[in-house]
Amino acid sequence: KVRVRFAPSPTGGLHLGGVRTALFNYLFARHHAGDFILRIEDTDQTRFVPGAEEYIAECLAWCGITPDESPRNPGNYGPYRQSERKPTYRQYAEQLIKDGFAYYAFDTAEELDEQRKLQPNFRYSQENRLQLRNSLSLPAEETAALLAAGHAHTIRIKMPIDETVSFEDLIRGRVSFETNLVDDKVLLKADGMPTYHLAVVVDDKAMEISHIFRGEEWLPSAPVHILLWEYLGWKNDMPAWAHLPLILKPDGHGKLSKRDGDRLGFPVYAMNWADPKTGDLTKGFRELGFLPDAFVNMLALLGWNDGTEQELFSIDELIAKFSVERISKAGAKFDFEKAKWFNHEWIKHTPNELLLPQVRAGINVPAAAEIPDAYLADVLALVKERLTFVADFWTQASFFFERPASYDVDAVKPKWTAEKAEFFTAIAAQFKQIDTWEAPVLESFFKEQIALSGMKVGELMMPFRIMLVGGKFGPDVFKIVELLGKEEMIARIQLALP
Ligand code: GLU
Repeated sequence: KVRVRFAPSPTGGLHLGGVRTALFNYLFARHHAGDFILRIEDTDQTRFVPGAEEYIAECLAWCGITPDESPRNPGNYGPYRQSERKPTYRQYAEQLIKDGFAYYAFDTAEELDEQRKLQPNFRYSQENRLQLRNSLSLPAEETAALLAAGHAHTIRIKMPIDETVSFEDLIRGRVSFETNLVDDKVLLKADGMPTYHLAVVVDDKAMEISHIFRGEEWLPSAPVHILLWEYLGWKNDMPAWAHLPLILKPDGHGKLSKRDGDRLGFPVYAMNWADPKTGDLTKGFRELGFLPDAFVNMLALLGWNDGTEQELFSIDELIAKFSVERISKAGAKFDFEKAKWFNHEWIKHTPNELLLPQVRAGINVPAAAEIPDAYLADVLALVKERLTFVADFWTQASFFFERPASYDVDAVKPKWTAEKAEFFTAIAAQFKQIDTWEAPVLESFFKEQIALSGMKVGELMMPFRIMLVGGKFGPDVFKIVELLGKEEMIARIQLALP
């Protein structure tokens, strides 16, 4: 059975890349009717940030990426927080030592710092492990004595010498690593907590994970993980690997970072994140006004496409069409203008009823709550095409809710005349007689009256618009008139007349 996991560390807000990893795992799971698991990797207590786990859960919920098993909704493969599995990791680390695949290391942090000072490229590895303080370099009695005395120690993997570790990545094909180039990573830390490397393998095995989709930044760790699967005797249960392409800066030069967002003025986090220590706020897509459908659609296309020109996909369509074969190897450039385009398209495609609560929240008049839904929906339908964010509604449509505060008289060309004023005074009265208050009827009536007056349509349309909305903007004038209604329209003409 397909079982995949999203395994974030609760160290802060979720970056675009993190959400995309969650999304690809989720799409793959749903496509194959498998399980999608959220696992919190919180074994690095120095980097733990309170509130981050809740943030991750809320973010997935906002995106509609619902885990089948998670810390809040555990299944049969718990615990779903790594720290709660702590007691089981040491046993595996000890087993690795017994089988000759790992060793105790007694070097203190100060000693290792000393080494780093001497050698800037210091790596604990087969090149120098025999000169350092560990159970491979020390006599057995000394190791035993240090352990008996409770001397602080870590457990490190003993990377084999002169071997090549190869595996088949579902995205990259065959990938190989020379073991001599990989250091002896710590598996169990002095505080008894596992490092990510040990925990990820033990947990993926315990949770019966079938496929691992994770960011390309984890590729260099893959040889360590693959050896651990082998050394722990679980080779036949090893999941398939898929390392997702990086998300690149808009110019394609390097990995997109939070700093690029600050510098170029766009969000890189899914939702606002307030750092509990510094209080610093990092802005998110959600608060900026992105619809979850648009955000998810945009993310899905960062490194995947369905092989056609299609760009708009609902989450259900993504589930139906998702395939690993169509994930690209090359990094995907993030383009904020494109992200906004997705939002604009999704606003157009989202039924009005679903947008009304957000639309209403943005209305800037005292009695906003009393405006009937039907009126709001009609106005929305008229300006929808012009919105990048739902919050743009007010800028585009405020004149449907309040009378113009001023008039752009300079826009009236040729200039305003007494003859025009007379025309509008007369027409305000004539409009009272019309019973079918619909745009086409109003338009023909207005144009007939112009014809009778001997003036030209072009001379009178702009003044009419300016009387109603204050300036040279807005949708079709007769649509505006239809929605404003007879009394309001007449009132606005009278108010505007000199
Ligand atoms: N905890 C790792 C992270 O924060 C997970 C990497 C993986 O999926 O193996 O990205």
